[in-house]
Amino acid sequence: MARKRVLCIEDNVSNMRLVGRIVEAEKHDFLMAADGAAAFGLIEQERPDLILLDINIPGISGLEIARRLKANEALSTIPIIATTANVLIGDREMCLEAGCDAYLPKPLDVRELQEILREYLGRVNGRG
Ligand code: MN
Repeated sequence: MARKRVLCIEDNVSNMRLVGRIVEAEKHDFLMAADGAAAFGLIEQERPDLILLDINIPGISGLEIARRLKANEALSTIPIIATTANVLIGDREMCLEAGCDAYLPKPLDVRELQEILREYLGRVNGRG
């Protein structure tokens, strides 16, 4: 299994740092975007293998980003994992309805995030 590219769309610096540490510990390449506008350019250019998407970001909402990606034939196969502190009833369903493939509540659980990365990307064998 080769290294994969993981894009994190997140406006909170400490959350971004945490996700980056976990992704890099799993031996994948880490890409960052602080908002939707930055994310779309990066996605077109880099075609990440997985997207971790904060739903609460400035500008285009995370839900709208998910809808746009899933409506784009060339990008619709990229798995999207929603991350949000909105743990109200129905929030998970809203993310899934928008096209997200899975949902992780915040604060992020390191083990849960590792498991999601392994589920969607496999494990990287050999030396990183
Ligand atoms: Mn946020």
